[in-house]
Amino acid sequence: MIPLSRPCLVEQDVEKVLEVLRTPRLSLGPQLLEFEQKMAEYAGCQYAVGVNSGTSALHLIVRALGIGEGDEVITTPFSFVASANCILLERARPVFVDIDPVSLNIDANRIEAAITPHTKAILAVDVFGCPADWNRLREIAHHHGLVLIEDSCEALGARYRLADGTWAMAGALGEAGCFAFYPNKQITTGEGGIIVTDREDLASLCRSMRNQGRDEGAGWLQHTRLGFNYRLSDINCALGISQMTRIDEILAARRRVAQWYGEALADLSEVATPQEPSDVQISWFVYVVRLSEVHTRESRDAILTDLRCQGIGCADYFTPIHLQPYMREMFGFREGDFPITESVSARTLALPFYNGLNQDQIGDVVAALRETLARRSLPRHDRSPGGSGGSSPGGQA
Ligand SMILES: *Cc1c(COP(=O)(O)O)cnc(C)c1O
Repeated sequence: MIPLSRPCLVEQDVEKVLEVLRTPRLSLGPQLLEFEQKMAEYAGCQYAVGVNSGTSALHLIVRALGIGEGDEVITTPFSFVASANCILLERARPVFVDIDPVSLNIDANRIEAAITPHTKAILAVDVFGCPADWNRLREIAHHHGLVLIEDSCEALGARYRLADGTWAMAGALGEAGCFAFYPNKQITTGEGGIIVTDREDLASLCRSMRNQGRDEGAGWLQHTRLGFNYRLSDINCALGISQMTRIDEILAARRRVAQWYGEALADLSEVATPQEPSDVQISWFVYVVRLSEVHTRESRDAILTDLRCQGIGCADYFTPIHLQPYMREMFGFREGDFPITESVSARTLALPFYNGLNQDQIGDVVAALRETLARRSLPRHDRSPGGSGGSSPGGQA
């Protein structure tokens, strides 16, 4: 069995967590301060605010920016649902704009057509660790007086070349960015997230709102504003600090795995591999290939099932957000609303991807994919086992 993803923990990580467990400071302690300092420094931002998930980080950013009822936020339908949910949580409206079919990020050229007098912000996602078109996004935001929010949850360590030729880290490309530390991300704290920003006012508001609306230095039962319990424990932070000591190594290992996949898949014409744009350094979060146009959502799903039966973890990143049941119900979205997102989403295939994946395993994954594709392209009656057409792939595991 080769899993889709796997966190990379070493003995040092375990030791660091145990050290915290031997102290009485399990929350709002020195580990949180150190983790925040390290993350701010890494992202090249002034401030970092640790929270209990990437979703919490996004929610606090939206709220701290004063986005609320009656406001519209332009965002992408091709993402993890949290990037749109954080807008809904504040009763604002997500306005989806279709994606660029190559970068899979929001298509900046389509944004201006979606701007209305209610538009307050653009929330762009650095999807699969590839920064969005931030130079264009900055121009548009500046021209229309909009705020830029960066969902960089999948892009820790990605770099982007700014219009002036200098390179900036993902997370630092909008007014505020965020990272997430669920076990499938580049580094993990078990659960966790962090806000990064250069704006002192936003950082301070987020710090208060993660801690039940308390102001810093105020009494424990003194609540200045409505807040949440979005705190990140010192236990989680110790794991994050320890993981960050190896971040360069981790990103290099992931880059190597992506390269091996690229080589192993190069001659498979039915499969398009992800490409790195010239003004971008991807932080490899997942390895998502795209099947050729002959495939449909149904045939892709059958291939996923077939691979899983052969012990290969894989996934359909992402189902378009606008087609999730609650989104259809709330806004009346339908198939055809965002055709590029829908077409891409029907044919993507996330393959196993993590630091420790070796070349033999990649060989096994690619061999299984080749075999599955070859079997499916045979005339129906020649397919084995049982000529089932691939939708019931039992037997060949
Ligand atoms: C992982 C992720 C988040 C945050 O996820 P949590 O599970 O809440 O930590 C947000 N946006 C995107 C695009 C993500 O991939």
